[in-house]
Amino acid sequence: MKIFVINCGSSSLKYKLFDMRDEDVLAEGIIERIGIENSFLQYETKEGTDIKIEHEIPTHKEGIELLIETLLSDEHGVLKDMDEIKAVGHRVAHGGEKFAHSTLIDDEVMKKIEDISDLAPLHNPANLMGIEVCKELMSETSQVAVFDTAFHQTMPEEAYTYALPYEYYEKYGVRRYGFHGTSHGYVARRAAEMMDKDFEDLKIVTCHLGNGASIAAVKNGQSVDTSMGFTPLEGLVMGTRCGDIDPAIIPFIMDKEDMTTSEIDGVLNKESGLYGVSGVSSDMRDIEEAADNGNNQARVALDIFNYRVKKYIGSYSAAMGRIDAVVFTAGIGENAIETREEILSGLEYMGIELDKEANDCRGKEQIISTSDSRVKAIVIPTNEELVIAKDTEEILGRY
Ligand code: ADP
Repeated sequence: MKIFVINCGSSSLKYKLFDMRDEDVLAEGIIERIGIENSFLQYETKEGTDIKIEHEIPTHKEGIELLIETLLSDEHGVLKDMDEIKAVGHRVAHGGEKFAHSTLIDDEVMKKIEDISDLAPLHNPANLMGIEVCKELMSETSQVAVFDTAFHQTMPEEAYTYALPYEYYEKYGVRRYGFHGTSHGYVARRAAEMMDKDFEDLKIVTCHLGNGASIAAVKNGQSVDTSMGFTPLEGLVMGTRCGDIDPAIIPFIMDKEDMTTSEIDGVLNKESGLYGVSGVSSDMRDIEEAADNGNNQARVALDIFNYRVKKYIGSYSAAMGRIDAVVFTAGIGENAIETREEILSGLEYMGIELDKEANDCRGKEQIISTSDSRVKAIVIPTNEELVIAKDTEEILGRY
């Protein structure tokens, strides 16, 4: 069965075409600069094609039409007929409280996704647009929505409720939702498989450390807490996001710098985090290099990044009573050897013993704790698109 996975943004669209028999990726790439000049389609195939097609792409519809044409083309195509694609899996940013699972898309589901749009005004409308265009161009093909928030819908009230006037939750849905759910769910399940244990018997802390970063407490197969909150701004130090801060800093800086709400929002989301503290870059590799060359602000940025992750591991261990595994994933988690070492150092009292030799690895599945470490530390590359494809296949099987 062939499944098409789409992650639609406001001016870009990432795609991956899977053959689910062996989970092979037949084609993948991105359509960029939709509605802007110099738009193009980047297209790679399993057979080794890697091309950039520059073309006017005024809307998502023209973008997907160009993609379909390329997928079917004599020269670079990987399909004979679009009917070979049995379903399209769409990544949808926010499912609010309405979606705790992936779901087959019908008009009612689309209406609900639209209703939730004020919680994710940049993402949900773009995701919906992708769904609408696919429905139009592939009208006979099933469409499935996979939500970034769904995995965290199992959090208990005390984890998701903010200590604000309760009416803001009731009126506006202000609560913790959490994100990166597809990734946390995938690596937690995979960790259980690697440990040869039942997922339902384990207490796992999953650290998704990418440009956006979040951490989750997964108890007996369910997310019971996560660091991102009402929006992806809360929690860990990220590339350009501040993560946890004293909320009183916000009006204080707004007064001092005479800022509007959108200006302070820009500072917190785009000018803070590793970038804001280091003044160097939002990219972990640049910051590691600057710190190695003696840049003190870069060193501080690294230190607060690591310290924040360490604190969350401790607090989630307290929340779950014990932990059996800590999992590292995403760009930093999969590749930053020293970062993992720094985060885990000092946690021996919890039963985590790092194997430094095993930790000397990048981008592959590996247990990085010693064989007699009570708590396993594991690196697991995330694969959100594959989870979306698998969910889509599974949902299709029900109908
Ligand atoms: P996104 O949230 O954009 O999907 P990624 O998961 O791709 O982010 O992670 C990007 C981050 O991973 C960047 O900070 C990058 O510096 C970091 N990264 C990638 N490779 C390495 C590496 N070899 N060492 C350290 N950090 C790395």
